[in-house]
Formats: sequence, structure tokens, C-alpha cells
Amino acid sequence: MIPYGKQDILQEDIDSVVETLTSDFITQGPAVKRFEEDVSSYVGCLYGIAVSNATAALHLACIALGVGPGDLVWTSPISFVASANCARYCGAEVDFVDIEPDTFNMCPISLSKKLEDAKRNNRLPKVVIPVHMAGQSCKMHEINNLSKQYGFKIIEDASHAVGAEYRGNKVGSCKYSDITVFSFHPVKIITTGEGGVVLTNSERIAKEITKLRSHSITRDACELEDNMQGDWYYEQQGLGFNYRLTDIQAALGSSQFKRLDDYVAKRNQLADTYRGSLSSLPIKLPTIIDDSYSSYHLYIIRLKSEYINSTKKEVFAALRGMGIGVNLHYIPIYFQPYYRNLGFSKGICPNAEEYYDQAISIPIFPTMTKDQQLAVVDSIRKAVK
Ligand SMILES: *Cc1c(COP(=O)(O)O)cnc(C)c1O
Repeated sequence: MIPYGKQDILQEDIDSVVETLTSDFITQGPAVKRFEEDVSSYVGCLYGIAVSNATAALHLACIALGVGPGDLVWTSPISFVASANCARYCGAEVDFVDIEPDTFNMCPISLSKKLEDAKRNNRLPKVVIPVHMAGQSCKMHEINNLSKQYGFKIIEDASHAVGAEYRGNKVGSCKYSDITVFSFHPVKIITTGEGGVVLTNSERIAKEITKLRSHSITRDACELEDNMQGDWYYEQQGLGFNYRLTDIQAALGSSQFKRLDDYVAKRNQLADTYRGSLSSLPIKLPTIIDDSYSSYHLYIIRLKSEYINSTKKEVFAALRGMGIGVNLHYIPIYFQPYYRNLGFSKGICPNAEEYYDQAISIPIFPTMTKDQQLAVVDSIRKAVK
């Protein structure tokens, strides 16, 4: 089976992990700091705080922006469930903004309409979480303008978009947001096994998240509420978590990071080849907006069902049958039983629901060979007859 995505671990990655394993620190040592600096300097953001995964990053981001019971958080229905769950962890209510059909990203026009209604009903969101679906940035300029008009904060869920660019800036620069998060899960662009990072230009947010990631404990003399009682002294000043990344993972991350630009370039090359080979078939190919460079975490095709004799379920099964590890990203979050039980029902985001009926993620990963890609194209041609 040709998988839809796959990590690439080289000997240099292994060497770097082994070196860390035999060093003085395997967690809370220098490798985490180095990795944080790699990421923040690459994207051009002041602060990067590494955490155990992107779900933890989203959770801490919500806490740092003051999300709590009685608050509303809006996100995209076409995302991994973590983009919505982070608000629920804080006791807030979630709602969903429909996507644009051609980019699969949160639609600024739908957002604007929903905000108008919300303002009338006094139900404005505290935080909006745009998700950079498949590796392409949302229209952050527009979303940022709305945030100024309506006074909400922005967390970019850039789990897919490590190495992507928007309007001349790297995704993660936080030019248009308060916080951006990346994921380093093995299917994503680069990996630390499990891992994530919170990026922000706010010193206050960076300090708070650094504390929250480690039990809200501080030893910093300037931060203590009581007097330093001795060299053993530390204070737990809030209710934090153990959301730390280990040095073992960070060493893998820094080593992988050196190849980030090559990976993204290779993904773009594969996407170009797909565009050329698939354009004559009854499928819609992903649209890239102006001034945007996608990291192509996913390559998503949409079936034009009116021209295809089989259902999506049949096309999907046929492709799997031919050894193509196709997948689906994602089931609209509010279709999930947990969200259904909170009162969501079908019909609220028609574009997202139509997307779900048509979308298929086909294999794309940096070590994909020409032959593998030919096999994928060939199989799709047969499956969509
Ligand atoms: C993978 C992913 C997450 C969660 O990342 P983890 O590091 O696995 O916690 C969140 N949001 C999106 C859009 C993702 O793809």
C-alpha cells in the first residue's frame, strides 16, 4: 500500500537522538531550547514554546487567551477534532464557520456574516481558530481585519502548514494572529514523534504558556509571590500541566528541521506533477490563492460525481483495492457523536458537508518515487471512469 503520508528518518536523525540519549539531559535540557530557536527564527516570530503535541499547544493557547466557561470559540468544521476540543477543555462553547469550496479553508465571507449575526445576538466569539487546511494558509489578512472590527483573538492551527508562506511571510510569524501552533506528529511535515510548538510575539503569552506547560511552577526570582526561602524554593502559581517535549524528541526535531525546505519543495513538485497528470479527469484539484505557498501536507482531490459512474465510497474502496492508501481529511467535526450530543445537527455548514461527500486525500510525501506517483495517477484514472 502506498500510504497517504509518511515520515522520513535518516541516519543523521538517529545519530542526533542517540547523542542526546547519552548526554546529561534527556528532558528539560538544551535540545528543547535549540529546537524552539530553530522554529521561531525560521518563521520570524519572537517566541516559540515546544510542547508535547499540537493538541496541548491549542489547549494552552486557549487558556492564555482567557477562554473559559461562557465564552465562544469558532473554528472550521473541516479539521481534526483537536481544533475544536481545545475550547471544550476550557469549558467554552464551540461553533463552526463554513469553508470555501476551492481552498477548504475557513471562508472570510461566511465568517463576516456569522459575526454580524453574533453581534446582534450578543454572542460574539472570544477566539477564532482558522485551520490552514492541507498546508495552505487561510486568508489571514481578511480574518485579521474582522478580528479588529469585532474584537476577537486569533489562534492559527497551522498543524499542516509548517514551511508554508502567505503574503511574503512564513506561516507561524503571527503577523495576523495572537498565536500559531504547529504539529510534529509523524504524518505532518517534519516530526518529533509526538510534538508541537506554540508561536507568539507576545511576551505575556509566551511566559504564561512556558509556565503552564510545566505545572505552572516557577523558580524565577522575579516571578515569585513570596520571598525566596532557599535554593530549593519554587512556587506553583496556577493549575498547569505536564505538556513538555523531551530533549530526545527535540533533537529529532532540530535534525529534521534542516530538511524542512527540501521537503516542502519536494511536496510542491509532486503537487505540480499531480496537477499536470490529473487535470483531464472528472475531479477538482486544489486551488492555491495568490501570494500563497502551500506546504502540501495533503493533496486533496474532489470527485465531480455527476461525471463518475461510481459513488465516492466505491471510488475510495477501488483505490484502496489497487494499493493506494487514500484517506479522508476530514469528517465535519460536528458530525462526530460527541458534538452531535452537544446539539449540532446536519445542515449548518453546507460547503463543508459537500466537501465531505467529494474529497479524497491521495498519497503525497517527500520520499515518494516517480513510479509510486505514476501508480497513484493510473489507479485514479481507472477508479473514476
Ligand atoms: C494533527 C493535527 C492536530 C493535532 O496535532 P497533534 O500534534 O497530533 O496533537 C491539530 N489540528 C490539526 C489540523 C491537525 O492536523
